Amino acid sequence: MNRLDAVARITVHHDGMPPVRLTNRRDVADRIDLIRKSHQARGWGDIGYHFVVDPSGQIWQGRSLAYQGAHVKNQNYRNLGIVALGNFEVQSPTSAQVAALERFLFTSMRRFRVPLMRVRTHRELAPTLCPGRNMQFAMNGLRTKGRSLSRA
Ligand SMILES: [Zn+2]
Repeated sequence: MNRLDAVARITVHHDGMPPVRLTNRRDVADRIDLIRKSHQARGWGDIGYHFVVDPSGQIWQGRSLAYQGAHVKNQNYRNLGIVALGNFEVQSPTSAQVAALERFLFTSMRRFRVPLMRVRTHRELAPTLCPGRNMQFAMNGLRTKGRSLSRA
C-alpha cells in the first residue's frame, strides 16, 4: 500500500451490500470483516476505507491513516475514505448514523483542513450509485448545514 500524504479531500460511501440489521458490535465487526476480505480478495492490502460509521453511530477505524485508501478509482491520492454501513439505495441511514457522520466529517475537516467543497460522495466523482440515494440526500443536507456554519 502507498503511504497517505496529507489528506486534502474526503469521500463518503455506503457498503452497498444486501441490507442487514446490525444490532450489536459483533454484527458490525463481522460486516467490516466481510468488506475487508472482499477488498483483500481484489488484491488490496487492507479494507479500502479509513473509517466506518455503523448504524448506532459508532466510528470504527478501517485502513490505517498511514496508508492511502482504495475507494475511488484513480482518485485515492490524499483522499480520506469513509464508509457508512448499509445499502442506502434501498434503506435509509439511521438518524444516529447521519449525526455521527456529520460530527465526524466536521471534525475531520478541521483536523485535516479540508474545505467543504472537497467533501464529496462517491457518485459525485465516478459513475456509481454509491452512497445510495438516501445517503446522498443526507449528504446534501449536511453540506447545506456546513455552509451556513462556516458563514456563522
Ligand atoms: Zn463508494
